[in-house]
Amino acid sequence: MKTSLSYGHYYDYDELKAALEGFARQYPGLCTLESNCVTEKGREQFVMTLTNKDAGDALSKPGWYLDGNIHAGEVTASMVALHFIDTLLTGYAGDEQIRRLLDRFTVYVIPRVSPDGAEVYLHSPAHLRSADRADHPKAGGLFPTDLDGDGVIRSMRVPSPYGAWKKDPDDPSRLCLRSPSDTEGDFFDLYAEGLWEDGDTDEDNLQPKKPDWSLDFNRNFPFGWYPAPRQPGAGDYPLSNPECKALADFVIAHPNIGGASIGHTSGGLLLYPPGTMPSAKAAPQDLKVLREIAAMGQEELGYVPLNIFDSFLSDQENYDSGAFDDWCYQCRGIPAYTVEYWDLPGKAGVPFPWGSKEPESTAQQLQRFEACRAWVRENAPQYNLDWIPWEHPQLGPVEIGGLQSKFTLQNPPEAFLEAESFEDAIRNAISLGGDSDTIGAITGAVAWAYYGRDGIQPDMRSMLDEIRLPEDLQTVVDDFAEYCAGHAGTGR
Ligand SMILES: [Zn+2]
Repeated sequence: MKTSLSYGHYYDYDELKAALEGFARQYPGLCTLESNCVTEKGREQFVMTLTNKDAGDALSKPGWYLDGNIHAGEVTASMVALHFIDTLLTGYAGDEQIRRLLDRFTVYVIPRVSPDGAEVYLHSPAHLRSADRADHPKAGGLFPTDLDGDGVIRSMRVPSPYGAWKKDPDDPSRLCLRSPSDTEGDFFDLYAEGLWEDGDTDEDNLQPKKPDWSLDFNRNFPFGWYPAPRQPGAGDYPLSNPECKALADFVIAHPNIGGASIGHTSGGLLLYPPGTMPSAKAAPQDLKVLREIAAMGQEELGYVPLNIFDSFLSDQENYDSGAFDDWCYQCRGIPAYTVEYWDLPGKAGVPFPWGSKEPESTAQQLQRFEACRAWVRENAPQYNLDWIPWEHPQLGPVEIGGLQSKFTLQNPPEAFLEAESFEDAIRNAISLGGDSDTIGAITGAVAWAYYGRDGIQPDMRSMLDEIRLPEDLQTVVDDFAEYCAGHAGTGR
């Protein structure tokens, strides 16, 4: 199998459209590209139907649905969807499993549910939930703004005698919490990089402004829907967003769909319904199926399966719902998974304690953030900025710095887009075809040096443990591992 596109950057709308149209031209017997709806800005919500048309009509075969980017900033998910299409089409001729899949089944892919939102996310400093449409805008507060014009909204530290933060004595680029006994020294308040609307920097107006573009498409589906303010961004009524109505209409019009992967970032999770009641109250047979499929996903991806209600919701009384996965499951009987791709805290060694009911201390949260920042400084230094002085038009001298969070916390840095683990790297290398055993062996060595033994998934690690080397060779391997550990990250 050969992938034909490069995955070294995130595709904007025109690139995504060109890639999909290219596939439709190149593989007319295996895929059909259609528009599922047209957005307010005139962009298409594309749907690609993949099946061997000679082996039967798409609707006559069992179907699987996969999408991405219902949330504007979760652009990894649309790249995954594109890569999935690419893998199936380019692999059909040479891969027995793919051939069987497309002969007997149909796969529906909607790579970018919200093309309007993703375009703003990719081409401006703005962060937004789903689309650039005003939703009950409210004036007042700090409005995130790219003050220094570097294309990124970062953090702003502002000197204040009342500040809750001080510079870490071990590393002045880090902040740590001020203790009650800290009476002398420089202290700071911490804000998003931005401006106060109307220049009002009075104490009662220091909070962040409510985002104008707060619509959340994944709270707009007609199961467990609640209006704002319980669910900010839920829309005026279920399916009020054309993109959401188009998804629901699509699923209803394709009763052959028997499973769904709904693409989000981040967390490294496989979330499964129900999201509106404890799993103990759900149908036991359904849960058995949902858990068994999730376990297979975990084996492939290393991602952690979690029930949405039991382990993912932070508030089990006034929880958010009206999500697409729950609607698929509760209203259409489809086992639906929300796949949260990418997990920077996990990579940085301080994973989120998913499922824990104990609230974390600020110190624990800070430790995780600093671990993430250390990882970024090491692996994607272009996305970290240590503090630079800036003359703020409303506050005077401040400093701007911190992470570019779009391609670190929310999505992987581009270099990690195609492979985020040892096993991914090997799998991708082998799937390139050609001299695959040599390419695989070289990739294995390079990936080992980068990810290290701990970066290898447990099932592969136990396989390696079973390999018995002669003692002298084992010594060489151990010495090399020790050398790599001592030089981690320096020679990549
Ligand atoms: Zn999401």
